[in-house]
Amino acid sequence: MLNTLKKYFGYDSFRPNQEEIISALLEGQDVLALMPTGGGKSICYQVPAMIKDGVCLVISPLIALMKDQVEALKQNGIAAAYLNSTQTATEQREIEDQLVKGEIKLLYVAPEKLFSGYEPFTRFLQQLNVSFFAIDEAHCVSQWGHDFRPEYLKLKELRDLFPEIPMIALTATADKKTRADIVNNLTMRAPKIIIASFDRPNIQYTIEPRQQGREKLLAFLSKYKDDSGIIYTLSRKSTEQLAMWLNNSGFTALPYHAGLTPEVRSRNQERFIRDDVQVVVATIAFGMGIDKSNVRYVVHWNLPKNIEGYYQETGRAGRDGVDSHAMLLYSVGDAHMLRGFIDDVPDDNHRENLLKKLNQMIDLCESRVCRRQSLLAYFDEEHPGECGNCDVCLREETYFDGTIIAQKALSAVARLGGRFGIGYVIDFLRGSKSQKIKDQHKELKTYGVGKDLSKNEWNRHLRYLIDLGLLEIDGGKFPLLKLTAKSQAVLKGQEKVELIQHTEVHDQEVLAEDVPEHLDLTKTLKKVRRGLAKKADLPAYMIVNDKTLQELSRYRPTNIENISKISGFGEQKTEQFGEAFATAIAEFCKGKDMEVDLTPARVIKRKKNSTGPGMSAIETLTMLNAGETVGSIARQRKLATSTVEGHVYELITAGKVSSEAFIPAEKRAKILEAFKRKPKATLTEIHREFKGEVSFFELRIARI
Ligand code: ADP
Ligand code: ZN
Repeated sequence: MLNTLKKYFGYDSFRPNQEEIISALLEGQDVLALMPTGGGKSICYQVPAMIKDGVCLVISPLIALMKDQVEALKQNGIAAAYLNSTQTATEQREIEDQLVKGEIKLLYVAPEKLFSGYEPFTRFLQQLNVSFFAIDEAHCVSQWGHDFRPEYLKLKELRDLFPEIPMIALTATADKKTRADIVNNLTMRAPKIIIASFDRPNIQYTIEPRQQGREKLLAFLSKYKDDSGIIYTLSRKSTEQLAMWLNNSGFTALPYHAGLTPEVRSRNQERFIRDDVQVVVATIAFGMGIDKSNVRYVVHWNLPKNIEGYYQETGRAGRDGVDSHAMLLYSVGDAHMLRGFIDDVPDDNHRENLLKKLNQMIDLCESRVCRRQSLLAYFDEEHPGECGNCDVCLREETYFDGTIIAQKALSAVARLGGRFGIGYVIDFLRGSKSQKIKDQHKELKTYGVGKDLSKNEWNRHLRYLIDLGLLEIDGGKFPLLKLTAKSQAVLKGQEKVELIQHTEVHDQEVLAEDVPEHLDLTKTLKKVRRGLAKKADLPAYMIVNDKTLQELSRYRPTNIENISKISGFGEQKTEQFGEAFATAIAEFCKGKDMEVDLTPARVIKRKKNSTGPGMSAIETLTMLNAGETVGSIARQRKLATSTVEGHVYELITAGKVSSEAFIPAEKRAKILEAFKRKPKATLTEIHREFKGEVSFFELRIARI
């Protein structure tokens, strides 16, 4: 299995679950594989297709994608083909000839192709040696899913016609109902069901208010000047406006929405795929079935309607595993507007359901819990939080004693009997004269005790009190704010509450590899790739993907032998493109102070040039030497624990303190073992492997 992976795809190891899925399939078992977008589903049938005798039949609804998918496989030296209505009869006959001769290993077809016509294709298939069926986008068989396709129901017949041939169904939709439908509607036989984690560790999630939205967007995009990205908006009009504005601001952007003709739409999509334009500003219609792996960011200019949609759209970033960014710009106005749309839905159940989902989306935006943890919790998956790669985890928080504020809030909720929503509680606290506030409430002692804070501040504090578990929101159509079991201790003054003062997002730690000359090399290699793509008339990412480019500029191979060790260089790619890259790297590095032909181990050892610890870190050092702990320093200096941990990291790097005090020897050994075992893994990947047993802090200091 590994040899096949390396030979055709150039990868050194399997991603989580791939191996298990492939083994089951090779043993002849039916398999249902649930994996997030970008999780690596295709490998799960492509590798066994190469190992097994015969042809693997891939059933996919996305006709528009087939050509590209097959082209990418051919680039890897795999005999693949597709059959669909876009081809002439002659073209189809040619492929059928090849099939009969057993020259094709993977055949892509749309479901309608299988059963239609006088002479259905299944009849033809029966004379072939079919290795197994791979049913992609299998959720299309479920009427409960968001993408039901009636022609998928016919796939049931496959089981009757080919009782001996195993099938694998793949989808990125994970809910139980859909899962059961797939198994039943395809009549799968005691399938092995494999559910991968839906975490996408390489995507950074950021949710921010859309105040000064355009400035924020520009600042964000300035980091991605040469990269591809998608911006989602709610309306056709804002799509056009944003695209125009971006073009005037030095980017190349195209709109994409249902109001454009199909020709314009597919032309715009094609130009995006081929990197002729960097940004597509789209309504939600865009992206389903876009297989572009080097999308570096996804921006939500408007509030998505629900978390499923949001997660699916953000998932289009970073399929190649390279660090990518999903930014949502949140506005209360959008929330009102979407509620307005939902109010017009006639069916009661449906309306309630939409509203519930919208409220969950809003809660996500306003909460201060690790985004990754919240998102995964939505999909019933546990994550320990502290992911180190979302705005919440990267934000430096300053805390202050907010006990009085908390007491005001909690007693207001108590006085109102837990029967009012967050907006009412805020108005009540601020002593609003509005008629909405009931007269008897205006008599209460707590009425107006929170005048000194703005609505926004109250909103933030209340949301944070919810995160702390001191208040809770009771769902339903009108979410109510209620006390919890923990509230009493605060109300009675037995417990203090720390609230967040002001917030500022930090850039992530600069990795050793991200030094400037290294980035220039990446740029040069991108040019080489563009040249090769033009010559082969292919989209650039099909030559090699961004992850491979990153590795090339990190390890700087200058000969074919070392090129072939880079992830993404299988036999055919090494042969076709290896020379071009090796030469470009050698040329670029000549005369510069850049080592070439590095091995992974040596790269990891290189450290960021440090100017020594800062003042704040020195203060932490003094306190450490006085016997304080990270926790007690954070409390006394009113800093976030993560800030003090950052100091410790600096201090260890500078050799001012020893790491031993901060991580037990046994744990350290375990972490180091993991680093050795997976020299190329990112911290997030290693963190995940330990399932919450070690913190990012411990990983970082162990790495030093
Ligand atoms: P999905 O269909 O689940 O959305 P893909 O099959 O398109 O995901 O895979 C996403 C990307 O990950 C592709 O660029 C693929 O080549 C890459 N990939 C898949 N498996 C591996 C692996 N074991 N090692 C490295 N990259 C992989
Ligand atoms: Zn996080």
